[in-house]
Amino acid sequence: MKKLNHIKVFSAASILVLGFITYIMFSNILTPNIENHEGQVVYGEIEMDADYVERENNKEDAKEENSEQEIDINNDTEQQIELIEADKDMEEQIKGKEDEEQLEEIELFFYEGKITNIFFHPLIAFPELAFDGDSMHQQMDNWFVTVTEFNRILDSLYKNNYILIDIRDTYEIRNEEGKEIMVKKELFLPENKKPLILSIDDLNYYTYMKNNGTVHKLILDSEGNIATKTHFPGEEKMISYDNEIIPILESFIAKNPDFSHNGARGVIALTGFNGVLGYDTHKITAPEYQEEKQQAIEAINYLKEMGWTFSSHGYYHYDTARVEFNKLLNDTKRWEKEVSVLTGPTEFYIYPFGATVRPGSDRFKHLIDAGFRAFWGVGPNSQFQINHNYLLMDRINLDGVYFTRNRGKTTQLFDVDSIIDDARGWD
Ligand SMILES: [Zn+2]
Repeated sequence: MKKLNHIKVFSAASILVLGFITYIMFSNILTPNIENHEGQVVYGEIEMDADYVERENNKEDAKEENSEQEIDINNDTEQQIELIEADKDMEEQIKGKEDEEQLEEIELFFYEGKITNIFFHPLIAFPELAFDGDSMHQQMDNWFVTVTEFNRILDSLYKNNYILIDIRDTYEIRNEEGKEIMVKKELFLPENKKPLILSIDDLNYYTYMKNNGTVHKLILDSEGNIATKTHFPGEEKMISYDNEIIPILESFIAKNPDFSHNGARGVIALTGFNGVLGYDTHKITAPEYQEEKQQAIEAINYLKEMGWTFSSHGYYHYDTARVEFNKLLNDTKRWEKEVSVLTGPTEFYIYPFGATVRPGSDRFKHLIDAGFRAFWGVGPNSQFQINHNYLLMDRINLDGVYFTRNRGKTTQLFDVDSIIDDARGWD
């Protein structure tokens, strides 16, 4: 995405078209507490240690092996057929968007106020699987939002004059006399617009997520558009363009180009222990590894082209502040070896569980040495603080916990009661 930084700017926004495909996967974590930069966990996700994860994966693998083999055999043909079906809707959209070049003059103004920073987990695409009274019901209710809620949130943010900006438009790293320093960049926005940074945590599709209402995979369809793929045992595979954040946001921006400043999108936080985006990139000795890796890289490269950026979320989703120090060192190495090879290097570190570490501590120094410069925690006040050569930020968790805390209120973002999905079954 080309960035222009002039007061007057001709923004030629040609519209991206989207699409999708997917298939299988596994595993678990996730569930918040919330925190500031003093090291307490404020945003907690379900703790799962590595052994647990491996065991779960092995179980899931054994279960899914047979059906996967069948899928592989018929993969090409089935995919063709299924894409033809799935593309029918898209074709109309594509026709509408093709060559839809907009050339408009936008006047920009210096912006000095607060930068709002929000994050989501993958969306609940199938609420009947999330809110079904099983052992994960409460977790899904706490830490996720449904597709319906996400659509309502987007509409409200847009009506409230928020505009997506790229985090990389807020700071730059300079080298002065051999010393690296970070400085705030001046931000210029269209009149009355409020800057918004968006991120998605754990876009890995862990087994518990797939079993409790998320889609199963992010794919590129035969047209090269981003889509989701979901395949429940014994059922037809589903390809969709309207049940996950990325494709929904893409359609929304196509309709409302002034919701994105200079083509900004968001940041995607990935762990590695259960693959990424639904691809089994963690099974590095499996015969399918090269294929999985290749497909993951293609999806990731496409997302980067769209304007998305990738962040580390740790390999095992450890609590960075509390995990044994040696484990943290190995965790970082493993993320580099298995995830960074897919996404490329990143200077973003999104703390698992929002568990931040104190700048100056050994853990923090380790993260700096590993190349991270922007550290994302969780908190209600959109902290944005540049010190020396690093940035500390807090993000607002948009999820059931946020809704519960703010029921009956209109927050800076939206009227909360108008967002909540009846599918949650709240009183
Ligand atoms: Zn997480």
